[in-house]
Formats: sequence, structure tokens, C-alpha cells
Amino acid sequence: MGDECIFCKIVSGEIPAKKIFENEATFAFLDINPSAKGHSLVIPKNHHATMLDIPEAELKDVISTVQKVGAAIMKATNADGFNVLQNNREAAGQVIPHLHFHVIPRTIGDSLKLSFGSQKAEEEELKEYEKRVKEQL
Ligand code: AMP
Ligand code: ZN
Repeated sequence: MGDECIFCKIVSGEIPAKKIFENEATFAFLDINPSAKGHSLVIPKNHHATMLDIPEAELKDVISTVQKVGAAIMKATNADGFNVLQNNREAAGQVIPHLHFHVIPRTIGDSLKLSFGSQKAEEEELKEYEKRVKEQL
């Protein structure tokens, strides 16, 4: 598993990357095509394709590193905030099938466009999806 995975190769050092942090379970490096200066990726060292594939304990390790890296990136870039983005599967825009969190520094007034909450839902629709999702939890 992970033999052909570009992020596994970054962890093993087979492919170079701008590593910013590493601990026993996680690894963080600069994104090669950044959405903003300092845009970084945080990954588990073990190969897991998506958030549904990683054991919960390992996911907690990854999130701890996201928090640490987010704080450092804000200071390093004088940012006012940062986005954490994580894509699961092709339909959601995942290109590299090794779980990763994008950490993107943001400055007030920057031109980066990430759009959420652009559609208004009717009360009936919200109720229906509240019920549907709760049934799965
Ligand atoms: P995603 O669409 O969530 O799968 O994002 C994959 C991200 O990996 C993109 O933002 C790419 O720019 C980034 N990426 C791909 N190859 C490399 C690499 N060799 N080093 C650093 N970042 C990479
Ligand atoms: Zn991998």
C-alpha cells in the first residue's frame, strides 16, 4: 500500500519536499502550488486514502499537527487567519489519494475565493437533511 503514492514518497524522502514539521505520526510540508504564500499540507505518515480510512487515534495526531502548523504559519506570514481544507474523494476535488489537510494563511482583504453558504435552504429541506444525517450517526 502506498508504493506509488507521491506523499508516501515525500515522507520516505524519495521525493524532495519543503518539510516544515515532522513527528512520530505526522508530516507537514509546503504545497508546491500554493493558494497563498505559506500554504502547507499536513499528512499522516502512514498511508490512508481519505478521512474515512484512517483510525481515529491517528486522525487526532494529524489534527494536533494542523493546529500547531496553523499557528506557526500565521506568525510566519503575518496572516490574520487561516483556512483548513480537506478533500475526500475525486468528487470533492481530491487529487492525491493520501489524506491531507490544506492549511492556508489568510489576510483581511486578500482575493482568495472560497465560497460557502451561498445558497439559502428552505426550512423543510433543512429538517429533512437533519433527519437523514442523524439516522446515520
Ligand atoms: P487535493 O486536491 O486536496 O488532493 O490537493 C493536492 C495538493 O497537493 C495540491 O494543492 C497540490 O498542489 C499538492 N501537491 C501535489 N504534488 C505535490 C508535491 N510534490 N509537493 C507538494 N505539494 C504537492
Ligand atoms: Zn501515501
